[in-house]
Amino acid sequence: MENAKKTNKGFTEENRYKQLYRVTEKFHSSMNKESVLEEIILTLKDVYPAFTYFLFLSQDHKGYEGLPIKSLDYNSEDTSLMQSYVSGAIAFEDSVQERQSILYAPLKGKQGVYGVLQVIAPNTLAFPKNEVEFISLLATTAGGAIENAQLYQQTKQLVADLQLINETTRYLNTNLRLADTMDYMSKQIVTSFSAEETAFILFSYGDMNPIVQEGSTPFFFSEESKVYVNYFKEKILQEKEPLFMGDLTLPGEAKACLYQSAMAVPMVHSGNLKGYSLALHRKPYFFSFETFKLYVSLIQHSTLAFTNTILREALEKMVVTDYLTKLYSRNFLDDKIKASMEVDGGGIFIIMDIDNFKKINDTYGHQVGDEVIIQVADIIRSNIRGTDIGARWGGEELAVYLPRVSVEIGSQIAERLVTRVRETSHPTVTVSCGLSYWEKSKNDTYLALFKRADKALYEAKTSGKNKVVVQESE
Ligand code: GH3
Ligand code: MG
Ligand code: MG
Repeated sequence: MENAKKTNKGFTEENRYKQLYRVTEKFHSSMNKESVLEEIILTLKDVYPAFTYFLFLSQDHKGYEGLPIKSLDYNSEDTSLMQSYVSGAIAFEDSVQERQSILYAPLKGKQGVYGVLQVIAPNTLAFPKNEVEFISLLATTAGGAIENAQLYQQTKQLVADLQLINETTRYLNTNLRLADTMDYMSKQIVTSFSAEETAFILFSYGDMNPIVQEGSTPFFFSEESKVYVNYFKEKILQEKEPLFMGDLTLPGEAKACLYQSAMAVPMVHSGNLKGYSLALHRKPYFFSFETFKLYVSLIQHSTLAFTNTILREALEKMVVTDYLTKLYSRNFLDDKIKASMEVDGGGIFIIMDIDNFKKINDTYGHQVGDEVIIQVADIIRSNIRGTDIGARWGGEELAVYLPRVSVEIGSQIAERLVTRVRETSHPTVTVSCGLSYWEKSKNDTYLALFKRADKALYEAKTSGKNKVVVQESE
């Protein structure tokens, strides 16, 4: 009998360790937390069919349906459970009244305790000691496996986050227009963070007015968005830190506001606050802290690219437009005339020079001289169409190009300009114009066109000024 008992015990033990070996192997081949948990329960059911089991987990465990999982309540009155979780050691609870004995085995990894396995043995006064070793080994193995799975998930998430940042900054550095850049970023934020609304708001130079950029979601171009835009502007100016909110209430609003969740990140370049990016969702506490961290990192990484694009466009504008008159620059006009001579059927070129301008400067000073140039430029601007080009040729000389316009119409426009300047400028000045034209049928060049206008201008100057002279017809 003794022998038979011993042999039987040996078999049982062998069987258990076979199970443990099998389950360990399985754990190591899995990077999925759910299948690790499932395997523990299956093994326990197999080895101890009479016992009851629960897994108390410290982290969220939504979606593990069918598993006997409970939340680890930190305020739990179950002292043995908490003792096991906190100390990372096995704990027991024997109840004479209920005639059951409970074992708590921590699911312990190298970096922490991930939960506690509760095993309830019915109809006993003390937990069978020879089972303790097996269960605690199983729990420790599971703890290690959970840790691995968790680290693997975190690594995967980190890699995905880095990929998003990398992809975005690479895209932003490919010389896009600002509007395209904003558009792309908004789409990324909506898809990656499931934001309902997102905006890029830049502060205008000097008065720090918040300006909603193109590419922001349509909501931000509505009147209702203004309270949000202004609220976060103030907050960002005050705190200069990223903001993360789950229960947003705007000051002075009686009812809870439409968007409850908000993330706002300041856009800072070389220590200067340029504006901020905002993401909103109607549900309270919608964004996770992980999402927030990624959002902050994304915006911080893209601010440089943004600022570069803004500066580049400002520079382009500076080169294309003349700083004093805001007319186009001579370079720009040159390019446009050359392009027009390739594709159009004809066009008019007018050079205009202010008469006796030295005298204006000498009499009223340079500043008034500048103002007179601006007045003439404004007269040009308001007397030509959008397809025409008014430019500053240099000094007090301005130029106009009218594509696809006949000599008759072109002369009328030039005459009108001369009249308007004489009648409306203050102090009064007059201008002289030289007008040249080209037609597709004749083989013409830009240089020749310019020379004819210059010659006509010279004639206007030498024949009394305050007039238009049209180039000699060949
Ligand atoms: P006319 O047109 O009949 O030839 O006489 P003018 O006095 O205009 O003579 P000219 O074209 O030679 O001189 C133009 C003057 O305009 C010379 C320069 O001091 C002045 N000028 C050129 N650019 C500017 C500018 O941007 N601002 C001001 N205030 N003066 C300028
Ligand atoms: Mg001149
Ligand atoms: Mg002049």
